[in-house]
Amino acid sequence: MNDCIFCKIVKGDIPSKKAYEDERVYAFHDIAPAAPVHVLVIPKEHILAGVDEINEQNADIVAYIFTVIPKIAKELGLTNGYRVVSNIGADAGQTVRHIHFHIIGGATLGAMA
Ligand code: AMP
Ligand code: ZN
Repeated sequence: MNDCIFCKIVKGDIPSKKAYEDERVYAFHDIAPAAPVHVLVIPKEHILAGVDEINEQNADIVAYIFTVIPKIAKELGLTNGYRVVSNIGADAGQTVRHIHFHIIGGATLGAMA
């Protein structure tokens, strides 16, 4: 995806502050953090635009991401809890259509909207 900013981040064309990386997944600190810790976890490949595109054929990468999230949270020191969020579409305010999961923590978080 030529015009996808997260693909550009994976390629290194846009700089990012790395939190985690393996063969399939990249995680980096959000440029506009909503809490003291705010990391975005993404598949390196632009397989899915969002949770709305998950199906039986592509769910393996999503399951894999959810095995990585607790590891990242532990590395980030989020021992007292954290929130995992994925915005889907316009009503949720999704701005980047490359599937991603926000890890938010480092403070007591308010109630969900
Ligand atoms: P969403 O609104 O759920 O699609 O999340 C997109 C997130 O990407 C927002 O929280 C933005 O602050 C974040 N973001 C946008 N551009 C960058 C960037 N260059 N580096 C890090 N985070 C970014
Ligand atoms: Zn992308």
